Amino acid sequence: MFEDFAPVPVHKRVRSAAWAGDLHWRRIRAYIEMICRPISIAANTLRPALGTGVNHNFADKQFDKACVRTVQYRRNRGWNCKKEVLRDASSPVCFCLILMGKGPHSMALVDTKKMFKMAYNNGYAVGAFNVNNMEITQGIIEAIAEEKAPLILQISRGAREYASMSYLRAIIDVAVNENPDIPIAMHLDHGDTFECCKQCVDDGFTSVMIDGSHHSFEGNIKITKEVVDYAHDHGVVVEAELGQLGGIEEDVIGVEDVSAHLTDPDQAIEFIERTKVDSLAVAIGTSHGAYKFKTAPKLAIDVIEKIGARLPGFPLVMHGSSSVLREFKDLINKYGGAMPDAMGVPEDAITEAAQMAICKVNIDTDLRMALTAKIRQVFAEKPSEFDPRKYLGPGREAIRLMVKHKLQVLRCAGRAAECL
Ligand SMILES: [Zn+2]
Repeated sequence: MFEDFAPVPVHKRVRSAAWAGDLHWRRIRAYIEMICRPISIAANTLRPALGTGVNHNFADKQFDKACVRTVQYRRNRGWNCKKEVLRDASSPVCFCLILMGKGPHSMALVDTKKMFKMAYNNGYAVGAFNVNNMEITQGIIEAIAEEKAPLILQISRGAREYASMSYLRAIIDVAVNENPDIPIAMHLDHGDTFECCKQCVDDGFTSVMIDGSHHSFEGNIKITKEVVDYAHDHGVVVEAELGQLGGIEEDVIGVEDVSAHLTDPDQAIEFIERTKVDSLAVAIGTSHGAYKFKTAPKLAIDVIEKIGARLPGFPLVMHGSSSVLREFKDLINKYGGAMPDAMGVPEDAITEAAQMAICKVNIDTDLRMALTAKIRQVFAEKPSEFDPRKYLGPGREAIRLMVKHKLQVLRCAGRAAECL
């Protein structure tokens, strides 16, 4: 079967890459799928742990050693490994594939392609929930498992710094393994540089966002294209952003007047065609954070319609779409908080957008508020309580109930099976 691999030129990029998965990734994956079948390991379970290397006639001993070290490292941690050296007789170039899997029952993260296709065709959107710790993740997963909905777990740069990627990844791996009937994607929220996105691709994310919306149009295209090229070669999908949102989310600072910075549909079409990006976050009058609007905002549904008409099937993404639920704001303020009166995005507007080309809706603020409201309530009602489980537990339960409600708003409950 190796005839199928064309001789691979050894060029600068390959020689400097520790993992040369950026070469002929699709062909390599096809080969992996073929050799994995007999040993009953789903090829996609191998994706995060797969390393491929290329060396020149094995003269580059350094690279060969790197592969061997990886094999040993994984074996120590109980992985099943298989090292395959693929040689093309007509060329001095070799592929060195290291295949790993945890066995036939190991589940894997998925990307968002199938989810978005189903969401687009069936008039719903997938919830993209930000995770920072175990309780938040568990609350989301419990709701998702009960409602049988597809799921995108988002990790921001702030979350990576706060919890460290290895802890978050371990928590998410447990969620994936315990819910084999739920498709779960792991997505980078608001990647700001090529290096940040590359790191996440290398860390096993199945989807990354490059937010170049603060750059010029051409600058945004350039950085997005760079990320798309790298991510696609590694089987990872990319979300970009065009137009500017309001509000503040971590270090993402938006514009004052959201209506003046809406996504231009003509620019969006050009942007999508030139970058080959997989999905696009559009500015349609939403705003990040809890302090969004003084009056109910009117979403620019016509932007979604115009892009949808010219690029049917292309998935759009809604950021800044938390609803700032009154129930939690009132609880926070009742128990000593000081959240000013502000409105979020009305849920019926989110449902309307979900039935159109919006296939992913980001939710972070509503999670934070649910958790904070319950913790404040416990602290106020039981001031002698000091067991973290006694306040984080109710916080987790509030998240579960809130997410269950959101899945109805997004119309994605019961849609897990068709997205697998
Ligand atoms: Zn955002």
